Amino acid sequence: MTWTDHATERLRAAGHRPGGAGTRVIRHLETQSCCRGAQEIYEALDREVGLASVYRMLDRLDEQGLVQRIDIGDGIVRYEPSREAHHHHLVCGECGKVEPFADQTLEQAIEAVEERSGYSVVAHEVVLRGACADCRD
Ligand SMILES: [Zn+2]
Ligand SMILES: [Zn+2]
Ligand SMILES: [Zn+2]
Repeated sequence: MTWTDHATERLRAAGHRPGGAGTRVIRHLETQSCCRGAQEIYEALDREVGLASVYRMLDRLDEQGLVQRIDIGDGIVRYEPSREAHHHHLVCGECGKVEPFADQTLEQAIEAVEERSGYSVVAHEVVLRGACADCRD
């Protein structure tokens, strides 16, 4: 089952049958390699889906736990399908690009911290900020 089908089913069960506009937002999110903000989605869909509808759909997906909220500290909330393989984010302060990265050694280090801390950790976020390869010089 694709994430779009899974999300559609969950929304329907919660009484929010996504219409054509909502379905476009869901499909778009599924095809992205990383998180997207409401405005970005609105632009990517050629402004054919109203910005308010994009926000509403993102809220509903969030309520149902279907997306993960990514906050990189620039005031824009971005979302990605929560089924996306676990990864973290590199953020370019020049062009605003957000890219995914994954690192097994980092995950192991975080697990070791969890063990030492005595906390039961349910989530973690890592954001690396700087200038991307295109912007660095
Ligand atoms: Zn991501
Ligand atoms: Zn850049
Ligand atoms: Zn991680």
